Amino acid sequence: MTTSSSRISETLAALGYETDRLTPYIDGAFETDFAGEFRTLIDPGTGEPLIEVAYAQPSDIDRAVAAARSSFESGVWSRRRPSERGRILNRIALTLRERAAALATIETLDVGKPYSQALGDIEATARYFEFYGGFADKHGGRTVPLADHLVDFTELEPVGVSGQIIPFNYPAQNTGRGGAPALAAGCSVVLKPSPDCPLTPLLIAAIATECGVPDGVLNVVPGGVEAGSALSSHPGIDQITFTGSVATGKQVAHAAAENLTPSVLELGGKSPTIVFGDADFDLALAGVSASIFFNAGQTCAAGTRLLLESGERGDEFLRLLGEKAQALSIGAGIEDPDLGPLISGRQQERVEGYLGAATEAGGVIRAGGGRVDRPGFFIEPTIVEVPGNAHRLAQEEIFGPVLTVIRFDTLEEAVRIANDTEFGLSSYVWTRDINRALSLAKRIRAGQVNVNTFQVGTGIEIPFGGYKASGWGREKGIEGIDSYLQTKNICIGVNSELTR
Ligand code: NAD
Repeated sequence: MTTSSSRISETLAALGYETDRLTPYIDGAFETDFAGEFRTLIDPGTGEPLIEVAYAQPSDIDRAVAAARSSFESGVWSRRRPSERGRILNRIALTLRERAAALATIETLDVGKPYSQALGDIEATARYFEFYGGFADKHGGRTVPLADHLVDFTELEPVGVSGQIIPFNYPAQNTGRGGAPALAAGCSVVLKPSPDCPLTPLLIAAIATECGVPDGVLNVVPGGVEAGSALSSHPGIDQITFTGSVATGKQVAHAAAENLTPSVLELGGKSPTIVFGDADFDLALAGVSASIFFNAGQTCAAGTRLLLESGERGDEFLRLLGEKAQALSIGAGIEDPDLGPLISGRQQERVEGYLGAATEAGGVIRAGGGRVDRPGFFIEPTIVEVPGNAHRLAQEEIFGPVLTVIRFDTLEEAVRIANDTEFGLSSYVWTRDINRALSLAKRIRAGQVNVNTFQVGTGIEIPFGGYKASGWGREKGIEGIDSYLQTKNICIGVNSELTR
């Protein structure tokens, strides 16, 4: 009988790892001598044990930071020709693509997401290495026209050791999103994945070594709160990239402030999806549904609040959306359904808590509304209509397949409701009226506005990041490399007569 653990062992063996345990990846090797313990990962699609993985402690983080620091100071990577760094990153992209099927299987078993979505994640991860690999030798400083007797120019230098902490929902992609630009810039990295699903980050670090990234430049140390706070408060790091919840982001920001470590914070969202009666319903239904149910709603930029124009067309849209939600196939990720499980029993209970509150204060469940009766951590695709944006389900990040619907009458009201949230990560507008679309695009306070399209989990080339409590700094796109570089100005006097 195929179990989750036999499936993962076979897949790891196909990749060349004959092991049922994975340990931290430090200084170019899986480190068997570490301070933490082993913990058993669970397949969210079946609830079965998957594999044992190290749960590291602060002293393991110390060793990883020391390895990263030593590799950075040696110049083996930081002073390497940018074109050579780029070539190696491109090699990583190729290797990820060659091994995409196996890596996607591992991501699916670890996170629970449908296999085709995991395959898309591996391709996106490859794209990060390809994009920033291509950019490594094309991003330079500038000359400053200062005076006739002076030559002034800037250089962009790698910031040093980057400490990266990532959440559970896109482990492979997040490793590429922060790791690839940091490596392209010449930084060394210590990355701490979520304790729930650290497998692909560990394997990507090993692939990086295989492809020519020197030892100590990319270290991956799985662990929980202790390891995370040891990393964010470590005096040996020069920069922090944190992706996760607002609550944890605040703790990381405090730790960063203590050492004056610059940080990028990519936090939560409650992104509005605004649908007008004139929208192309075929497009909008597909986009709204995918935007909330992709990865079982566990996407920071998911369109979790549907702002629906009042009227018959709005009623019709909601009816069709309910039918679409109810028709979604549900199953373990490996069966490649439309909707997979949540990451853990803990997350399933958290989402159930919100479903319990759905009918409070006038809320009405339009589809779904409960857990799915099968092993694993499933919640039905759920649509809840609430009487106003003050409802708890319209304000708090649920992080599950739960869409909250709020009606509006005018464009002004749509803008007000869209912005009436502590978050400002992404937004979606569905209308055929270009004036209305542009007016909303300018007035919505969010890092991204998507008109008649959705970009959940993709878009390597475009800058991404939050307004307000959704964080600070930008990842992805050309902007994404700036966090890993610092500007040095060099000024040279060329005419001693004039300089004197
Ligand atoms: P989380 O905040 O619980 O954990 C994120 C990471 O921080 C994990 O690796 C965790 O082990 C670590 N951590 C926990 N406590 C820490 C501490 N005190 N110091 C340092 N590190 C600590 O988030 P999660 O549940 O894994 O992920 C879901 C959250 O992530 C959601 O809020 C979601 O919106 C957000 N997210 C944001 C983005 C984005 O780009 N804006 C992307 C994905 C997920």
